[in-house]
Amino acid sequence: MMRTFPIFVSFDGKPPLVVGGGPLAAIKTRLLLKRAGHVDVAAETLSPELSDLEAEGKVVLQPAHPGADQIRGRPLVISATEIDGEDARIAEIAHSLGVPVNVPDRPALCTAVLPAIVDRGEVTVAVGTSAAAPVLAQRLRAWLENELHPRLGDLAELAGQFRHRVAERLAEGPERRRLWERIFDGPAARAMLHGDEDAARKLIDHEIETAALAGTGEAPESQGRVLLIGAGPGDPELLTVKAVRALKAADVVFYDKLVGDGVLELARREAELVSVGKAKGAHSVPQAEINALLVARAKAGHTVVRLKGGDPFIFGRGGEELDALRAEAIPVEVVPGVTAGAAAAASLQIPLTHRDVSHTVTFLSGHEAGGKAPSFEHLDLKALASGNNTLVVYMGVTTGAVIAQRLLDAGFRAALPVIAVENASRANERRVATTISALANDAGSVGLKSPAVLIFGEVAGLPAAGAVDTILAHEEVARAYA
Ligand code: SAH
Repeated sequence: MMRTFPIFVSFDGKPPLVVGGGPLAAIKTRLLLKRAGHVDVAAETLSPELSDLEAEGKVVLQPAHPGADQIRGRPLVISATEIDGEDARIAEIAHSLGVPVNVPDRPALCTAVLPAIVDRGEVTVAVGTSAAAPVLAQRLRAWLENELHPRLGDLAELAGQFRHRVAERLAEGPERRRLWERIFDGPAARAMLHGDEDAARKLIDHEIETAALAGTGEAPESQGRVLLIGAGPGDPELLTVKAVRALKAADVVFYDKLVGDGVLELARREAELVSVGKAKGAHSVPQAEINALLVARAKAGHTVVRLKGGDPFIFGRGGEELDALRAEAIPVEVVPGVTAGAAAAASLQIPLTHRDVSHTVTFLSGHEAGGKAPSFEHLDLKALASGNNTLVVYMGVTTGAVIAQRLLDAGFRAALPVIAVENASRANERRVATTISALANDAGSVGLKSPAVLIFGEVAGLPAAGAVDTILAHEEVARAYA
């Protein structure tokens, strides 16, 4: 399978060359004329459409059967003679000269694949599937045609006219980028897309002058801010729209170990991505240092995204970071995320509360400060054992057996269902069903790896059919899930 990398090629130098004068060559020539001033067409005779284009000066006829001299230095050659031997000959010359070549419907001969194009003037969207699924590319193109405003190109062109002024008035950096964001997200862009170019110009003028003046005052540089964002359990589709918007606006992203790669890919391409990851045990960046980093970058005027797995305020030390930022009077916004326990429950299709089965849900940490197993002294376990309650244990992979024993001691029934979900919402998600007593006696058989949550309670006996990967073969477990 050919794999390709997308680039945009300039036709400002030598024109592209189309070989062949028939209808297929005409289709390709028309495509190239979207950007090329003219196209050289090498053929004995031209189809009526190509002849018309020649009369308009858009096609320049070249001798048929071009050789290396006609191919060398071309930005692109399309061989559309529809004669296999001739197309192969052209492709071979192009390969030997390193000239990008496309032969329609002959991927083996191609070093360049033509994308499906959505054309909005200055704005071009190219969709490619490395020739694997051209029809899919066409469908995406149709969808994008609908999504992208028809005047998007006009907006880009107008912005282009202001680039020079903006560069004169504002130094490069976050201030300048924020100005452009205000222009593209605000009334100026809306006016332009409505077709009111005069209003758009005035609004852009106003934005530029306001931004330029803000930088000259005695007042400190406009301050940055910190967005404390919940990244969810791993699947990027579980991000909030606000989280995605924050990632797109970030100058720098400080992220934890549990943040998924797919989530980071959504960050603005120029954003600096800094791992301050805390794998349990492996001390990476100490909390005080993370706090200091956030403060320093915000004071430098940057939009700082602090990205935490799940929800920032559930076992995420988000509160400590918030305190540090407040102490320095730095503006903070908090965006909640899907916490791991909620993601696990969704994936199993078990409600954490259920009218008939569970009336409360308690989120617990399986670790205490210092890495010890928890005593749960702060909890009335006896009360929890007697009612219809669900317990969701985080960070309990290594302490699962101890926790299960504490719960048994407090009076939880031995056959109470427990489900562990590892890597909830990720491709390698694993779900294991057991019971409290089985977990207390033989945690090894559950074979859990971090990150995982453990759900204790009657609701853990209600997973959707087929939702559990492993049901441990203890008799009582089998009975519990029978
Ligand atoms: N703020 C996070 C929790 C951080 S504590 C949240 O709201 O989800 C780290 C613990 O979260 C891990 O030890 C594990 O128990 C749990 N966890 C995080 N991501 C998980 C995932 N994808 N699947 C299962 N558990 C996860």
